[in-house]
Amino acid sequence: MAGPEASYIAGRWKETATRFDVVNPATAQPFAQVASIQLADLQEALQSAGRAFPAWRGKTARERGILLHRVADELVRRKAEIARLITMENGKPLAQSEGEVAMAEDHLRWFAEECRRVYGRTIPHHIEGKRHLVLKTPIGVVGAIAPWNFPLVLSVRKVAPALAAGCPVILKPASQTPLSAIALAQCFEAAACPEGVFQLVIGNAQMIAAELLSNDICRKISFTGSTGVGQELIRGAASYVKPLSLELGGLAPVLVFEDCDLDQAVQQTIIAKFRNTGQSCIAANRIFVQKTIYAQFLERFTAAVEGLKTGPGLEPGMDVGPLVSQKALDGALMQVGDARAKGARLLTGGERMKDLEGYFLKPTVLEAVSDSAACMCEETFAPIAPIASFETEDEAIARANASSYGLSAYAMTRDMGRIFRLGERIEAGTIGINDGAPTVSQSPFGGVKHSGWGRELGTEGLDAFLETKHLSLGGI
Ligand code: NAP
Repeated sequence: MAGPEASYIAGRWKETATRFDVVNPATAQPFAQVASIQLADLQEALQSAGRAFPAWRGKTARERGILLHRVADELVRRKAEIARLITMENGKPLAQSEGEVAMAEDHLRWFAEECRRVYGRTIPHHIEGKRHLVLKTPIGVVGAIAPWNFPLVLSVRKVAPALAAGCPVILKPASQTPLSAIALAQCFEAAACPEGVFQLVIGNAQMIAAELLSNDICRKISFTGSTGVGQELIRGAASYVKPLSLELGGLAPVLVFEDCDLDQAVQQTIIAKFRNTGQSCIAANRIFVQKTIYAQFLERFTAAVEGLKTGPGLEPGMDVGPLVSQKALDGALMQVGDARAKGARLLTGGERMKDLEGYFLKPTVLEAVSDSAACMCEETFAPIAPIASFETEDEAIARANASSYGLSAYAMTRDMGRIFRLGERIEAGTIGINDGAPTVSQSPFGGVKHSGWGRELGTEGLDAFLETKHLSLGGI
């Protein structure tokens, strides 16, 4: 890649003596080295962001939007190269990396325009001579912590709205996938981003989080990652009353009802399950199929899974890539073994692809899986589809809701009354009806229960970086 493999602080690339390897999951071999920062570098970034805040918030929304459009233009200009980087550091098939770059571009353009619609309110007064206004102002410097599974798009999902709202942002990417974040920083540099407005810090997560929590310059942390780390941040934030947005884990149920279009149900469940090699927070984790169509669904779904092409993401036409690490592969194999020990029947897959060097698992289908199997109660993050049957709508909803997570859920049905009942009763932030890929820039995204606090994307995604103030005027 062009430019240094390092953090971007106060408008400069920060080379340091400490470097770590980035591993390609398709080969299990390191292919790049990235410099990692010290505490003093992060403190410099916070100072720089603090200095940049007054001028950045003082720009008009249109001016802030112009910067985001320029960054989007750069992403588009470099889309092929950046998509390759995503595939090399994360493993996902190239077409999906290209889709990730396109979605990141769309997020940037959506927030570039949406910030022009940050409206306040005028509230009717009840005492003559007074008037009441509601103002929205930027919250201040934001710390953004992103995961490895969608390394570009989940970074942009925080960075774009924070900047659009008028907040300088410091991004910390996952150590597994720092290269696409470096490419994003290069796009900001090429777009002539003012110093300190966008910065990138790569390094020890605990050190960075502790400083973002305790340093008063940072006024909000937006985190996407595991529920365990989210809980740690909540504990840390308590001491400083630091606002958090948390996009955490999921355990999405798929409910397939007898009135569905079966081919469409199979196709959308495949997307919900196997996109990103199953390593998506909204991935289908538990598939429940109505008993009357259970056998038919199993047959068509298993045939479709056997048709998925699995291999290195840079090879053409791949549907499924490697898992992100050996640990992830071991965890997936453990879940398959656990489900079988609890009575599940393996229909396809279930083993490592021994002819490939990287962390490849054959796309797997299990049926008659017990609700107590690990793959039904723990986030799977692997191309494993566990299927069980149900009889009634009430039973399906109860089993869908029997989880501490509530990020997304899916249902395959054409019954309009049922669609409304599911929408109202399923405990999840996003519900895809006959839709295995529901996330779009203009609609809110986030979880309930242990899946997190707050929403990204949509108008709500911008609101996350705005304070709401009441301006009370007397003597009118
Ligand atoms: P993770 O281990 O929680 O890591 C996520 C980010 O947090 C990384 O940048 C990581 O840095 C950092 N981190 C690690 N320990 C930390 C700490 N003690 N304090 C602060 N930050 C810390 O999660 P992951 O394994 O990368 O990602 C998978 C999880 O993310 C899954 O649970 C998935 O469901 C969830 N996720 C949720 C969403 C959503 O929108 N709700 C989207 C995608 C993924 P290092 O890499 O340097 O350790």
